[in-house]
Amino acid sequence: MTQPNKNKSNKIRSNAEDMVRFTMAQFVDKEVIPVATEYDNKGEFPQHLFKKLGKMGIFGIRYPKKVRGSGGNTTLYCIAMQELARGLMSLAATTAMQCLMGTNGLYLYGTKEMYEEFLYPALKGDKMGAFQLTEPNAGSDLSAVRTKAEKTRDGYVINGMKTWSTSGPKGDFHTVLCQTDPSLGLRGLAFFLVPASTPGFSYSKPFDLLGTRTSSISEIYFKDCHVPVEYRLGEEGRGLGVLLKILSEIRIMTAALALGLHRAAMDDAIKYCKEREQFGKPIGKYQLIQAKIANMAVNLEAGQLMVDKVTHMIDQGKECLNLASMAKYFTVESACSASDEAMRIFGGYGYSMEYSVQRYYRDNRFLLYGGGTHEVLQTTIAREILSK
Ligand SMILES: Cc1cc2nc3c(=O)[nH]c(=O)nc-3n(C[C@H](O)[C@H](O)[C@H](O)COP(=O)(O)OP(=O)(O)OC[C@H]3O[C@@H](n4cnc5c(N)ncnc54)[C@H](O)[C@@H]3O)c2cc1C
Repeated sequence: MTQPNKNKSNKIRSNAEDMVRFTMAQFVDKEVIPVATEYDNKGEFPQHLFKKLGKMGIFGIRYPKKVRGSGGNTTLYCIAMQELARGLMSLAATTAMQCLMGTNGLYLYGTKEMYEEFLYPALKGDKMGAFQLTEPNAGSDLSAVRTKAEKTRDGYVINGMKTWSTSGPKGDFHTVLCQTDPSLGLRGLAFFLVPASTPGFSYSKPFDLLGTRTSSISEIYFKDCHVPVEYRLGEEGRGLGVLLKILSEIRIMTAALALGLHRAAMDDAIKYCKEREQFGKPIGKYQLIQAKIANMAVNLEAGQLMVDKVTHMIDQGKECLNLASMAKYFTVESACSASDEAMRIFGGYGYSMEYSVQRYYRDNRFLLYGGGTHEVLQTTIAREILSK
């Protein structure tokens, strides 16, 4: 487990950073890892751990104290998500959404009454927020969003559907990207808060998933859902701008989740290669196994440096979207490779459901999509570089 760094002379992290990592590492080692396989096998979300994270103040970690947050920042948020992902990716992903995409629109544009009804309970873990961009024909291309928000005398009526909604069936309120004027394409988009209690709101059976099997992901349907005008989160036509405000943070949070999974795969591989003997010695004595461990360690360290750099830039208010894209791309590809190599180190046992390496291998695929697919990220990284 990571210990707080007491040696001030070589200290490279703040006390707050050390403390968040230590507290989360303890929580993960004592409460998450012992039950992770059981919940993954059952496909059941560990609601009791989500409640505990609420009590620990994790959902408010990046919000100021004046809105009953914990007064932290993006760096602390990403440290917490990294540790949690080391324990159970689906719990970490749901928590990450509750801290950021599920509540940020509400935080930026909600009224006092909306804070009382949704934000404050969400920061305590009493209500869950979900975030919906994707539609069957609008994945990477958000200009294809067709869920329509039509202005009425006192608000909007929403009609349409979303898909791949993480926590969709469980969410108490939803931040939904809608089109207010289809003729305007991307300039017609706006976000709306839709409580699950709104008449006309419904969802499908949860999807059967390859990984993150404790998550509930479904389609969401809106049939004449009426919401008051104050539930529009930001101006009409500024939906993309609202998304852009947190896009660097979404990408770096995904990178932090990747670091956690990478660490879990590497830790298990190191332990196994010291214990497993073949041809009269531990397999960790063979150079080809050592090369795999070395690659995992180098990539983890490089990814950590990228994540630290980007989170500190975000906290200093510096523009860093392209660096965040690079960090997401690099750390997620590295985590995919680390969990693949860890499975190989386990030999045939890596293929058994008895060991957690198979879960890391399945769960890492989740990281490839949110915040931009890697083909889209490669395209935007290169476009930015070539435009200079
Ligand atoms: C586990 C999981 C959870 C999710 N949770 C949520 C959620 O909570 N909320 C939400 O809104 N969405 C969610 N999503 C959806 C996710 O954001 C989308 O899957 C993602 O945006 C990609 O869209 P798509 O799957 O439709 O793929 P597409 O956009 O159809 O892409 C298909 C393929 O084409 C490639 N491609 C697309 N455009 C280009 C291009 N211009 N250049 C090169 N290649 C391209 C892609 O990289 C990919 O390989 C989730 C998805 C998964 C798998």
